[in-house]
Amino acid sequence: MQDTVIIKGKEIAEQILSDLAEEVKTLPSAPCLAVVLVGENPASMIYVRNKIKKCAATGIESKLFALPDDIPENELEDLIQNLSADENYHGILVQLPLPSHIDEQKIIAAISPEKDVDGFTPVNIGRLALRQDCLMPCTPLGCITLLKTVREDLAGLNAVVIGRSNIVGRPLAQMLLNQNCTVTVCHSYTQNLPEICKRADILVAACGRPYMVKGDWIKEGAIVLDVGISYLEDKTIKGDVAFEEAVGKAAAVTPVPKGVGPMTIAMLLQNTVKAYRMQTQGKK
Ligand code: NDP
Repeated sequence: MQDTVIIKGKEIAEQILSDLAEEVKTLPSAPCLAVVLVGENPASMIYVRNKIKKCAATGIESKLFALPDDIPENELEDLIQNLSADENYHGILVQLPLPSHIDEQKIIAAISPEKDVDGFTPVNIGRLALRQDCLMPCTPLGCITLLKTVREDLAGLNAVVIGRSNIVGRPLAQMLLNQNCTVTVCHSYTQNLPEICKRADILVAACGRPYMVKGDWIKEGAIVLDVGISYLEDKTIKGDVAFEEAVGKAAAVTPVPKGVGPMTIAMLLQNTVKAYRMQTQGKK
C-alpha cells in the first residue's frame, strides 16, 4: 500500500497570499484590480466577494463595477477598453459567465494583455503556446504550483489531463508541455479513458463529473490533482476523483474542497502583482 501525501492546497494558498502581502508592502504604491460583474448570478457574486476580500487582506486595492444584466455588449466593451487605458488599474477581471446576449470572447479580447490577470486573452494564450513570459490562467497555474510542491522537476513524466476547456484543460496541457511532460489530453470523445489514466505519472481531472476517476484508474505512485467541483443534492461538494480510493494508491492527491480551489484566487492575486510590476517597471 502506497503512502499518500494529501496536498494541502488551502494551506499552500494561504502561505502564497501571506508572502504576497509582504511583497505588496515593498511596492511604491498598491496594485489595483478592476472587478467587472454583470448581472446577479449568485455563484458569481460569491466568487467576486471572495476575490475582493482576499485583495483587501493582501493590500491590493480593488474596485467593483457591478453592471445590470441587460447592459448592451458595446457598453461593456467600451468600459473594458477604458479600464485597459486607465493607468489607475493594473488588473482587469471580468467574472464569467456573461449573459447570453454578450459575446464572451469579444469582451475578453478587449482586455489589455498586460492587465489580463485571468490570462484568457488571445494574446496571453498565444504567448503561453510560444513559451513566452505572460500572464497565465489561474487554475492551471495553481495546478503547476501544487505539482511543484511534490516534485520540482516534472520533465519526462507522463501527464494526463481530463478536460479540454479554454480555462482549465487546454492551458494546463500547454503548461505541462512547457514543463517537458509528455501530455495526453482527454475529453468526452476519448476512448479507453481508464487505460489512458493508468499510464499517468501525473493525472489531472478537470471534467466536472463527480467521483468519475476510480482508484483502479490510478497508477501506483502517481500524483493526482482534482480540479472538479460538483455540488451534489445532499449539499456535499465532490471532486472528479474518488478521493478515498486514490488514498493508498497515489503518491499524492489533492482533496476537494481545500485542494486546487483556493489556489485559483492566490494565483489571481499573484498575477495582479505581476501585472503591476509589468506596467510600472521603469516608471517612477
Ligand atoms: P467544462 O465543462 O468547460 O469542461 C469540461 C471538460 O471535461 C470538457 O472538455 C469535456 O469534454 C470533458 N468531459 C466531460 N465529461 C467527460 C467524460 N465523461 N470523460 C472525459 N472528459 C469529459 O468545465 P471547466 O473546465 O470549466 O471545469 C471543469 C471542472 O473544474 C468543473 O467541475 C468546474 O467546476 C471545476 N473548476 C474548478 C476550478 C477551481 O478553482 N478549482 C476553476 C474552474 C473550474 P468535451 O470538450 O468533449 O465536452
